[in-house]
Amino acid sequence: MALMITDECINCDVCEPECPNDAIYMGLEIYEIDPRKCTECVGHFDEPQCVQICPVACIPVDPAHIESRESLFEKFQRLAAAKATATGSGSPAP
Ligand code: SF4
Ligand code: SF4
Repeated sequence: MALMITDECINCDVCEPECPNDAIYMGLEIYEIDPRKCTECVGHFDEPQCVQICPVACIPVDPAHIESRESLFEKFQRLAAAKATATGSGSPAP
């Protein structure tokens, strides 16, 4: 499941740097989560880091993006592969 930030967000800025997938960004009025990048922290941590740190508990599961743990892990693997390609840290081309 991807998570989402509700309008109770107070723009405290603490969650954005905690996201291992760079899924959190400043939207028009409040912070938002890109569901294509949020793995609910699967692959990185046992618990969603943004939820752990948010002082007003405004980060629930996004009902529009319900995913199994398996699909979240596949998303993590895709993101990790894309990051390795972008940074040149993946396997060299044959
Ligand atoms: S649950 Fe994890 S991956 Fe998803 S937005 Fe929060 S910190 Fe980022
Ligand atoms: S930690 Fe919570 S209140 Fe602070 S910016 Fe993130 S979502 Fe908003």
